Amino acid sequence: MTIPFSYLERQFDDLEPYLRDIGALVGSADFTLGKVVAEFEEAFADYIGLPHAIGVGSGTDALILSLKMIGVGPGDEVITAANTFIATAGAIIATGARPVFVDSEEGYVIDVSQIEAAITEKTKAIIPVHYTGNVADMPKVMTLADRHGIAVIEDCAQAIGAELNGAPIGSWGRSGAFSIHPLKNINVWGDGGLILTKDQELADALRLYRNHGLTDRDHVKVFGINCRLDSIQAVVGNRLIGSAPEITRRRIEIAAQFDEAFKNIDGIRVPMRRPDVRHVFHLYILRVDRRDELLAHLNQKGIEAKIHYPIPIHLQEAAQDLGYQRGDFPVTEADADCVITLPAHQHITPSEAEQIIEEVRAFYGR
Ligand SMILES: *Cc1c(COP(=O)(O)O)cnc(C)c1O
Repeated sequence: MTIPFSYLERQFDDLEPYLRDIGALVGSADFTLGKVVAEFEEAFADYIGLPHAIGVGSGTDALILSLKMIGVGPGDEVITAANTFIATAGAIIATGARPVFVDSEEGYVIDVSQIEAAITEKTKAIIPVHYTGNVADMPKVMTLADRHGIAVIEDCAQAIGAELNGAPIGSWGRSGAFSIHPLKNINVWGDGGLILTKDQELADALRLYRNHGLTDRDHVKVFGINCRLDSIQAVVGNRLIGSAPEITRRRIEIAAQFDEAFKNIDGIRVPMRRPDVRHVFHLYILRVDRRDELLAHLNQKGIEAKIHYPIPIHLQEAAQDLGYQRGDFPVTEADADCVITLPAHQHITPSEAEQIIEEVRAFYGR
């Protein structure tokens, strides 16, 4: 592909500074948590605008630990969006709880007006997903959750740097689960995740739990697991976090350029934006007519467009026992047939952006 969906080959063409920092880490032999992880946690918390960040093994782990810390387990139900990456549902299953899906709306986030109907005696938590880099309607989610005494955990994996009414994601619920996987907006050289929270007690409990419950080498306060953020990944994160504002700015800029180019073309619906949301466009997704033909056309022209996602979670083989069927989530199901994701990341050059626009326009005869 001449315009790749992934930017990893372009992003790390200058390895020297990273390798120097990793060399220094190896020299210090500070391989478990230690100084580099603490530095990265602080820098990440500062960038997002929350007081505590706890580094863990992945975004999926960040979700699982967040759920465990509020006592979610077998017999409980956790409400989340039908349209999300599989990890959100998988994390709920991993705690022994049951995921209960709610359809999405025009902005690709959970349709808040349908949450209340999904609440039962067993509902222990709600996980709104800030899918694509947009933000779920958190004031409404919180009002509902507070009224029913249900905890809220935000899935922030796709939305590093997003805000609603000027408040960062992760600040609305008990905690926010972030991912720094190679394909996320801030990305390291393998797996990594962070849990952000304003709750000091929760932060302390998470720090214990991710590291065997150890208060020091010889004392164990609670039983925990090993789910630490790897120090080498923290070194990479420390190098990258300074570019977060620029990465975010460029993604927003390209999305605005695409919106402008496509908004008046018959057969294309550009992503919905709300004026109170700072959408960070992890994924730039259009709803289009003749989607499969457009995808083939773009791929043939060397533009690596993709589909997020062709099969909704409730229709996956893994979800058979949950008892859902086709027709349960009309918006999510319709999206699976008409969405297309364009390469729209910080390493797309202005001329590549023009080329993408040209090819999409040409396909619709414009
Ligand atoms: C990527 C992602 C996750 C999981 O993050 P990992 O670091 O890959 O485990 C969870 N939820 C959503 C919405 C994601 O996009």
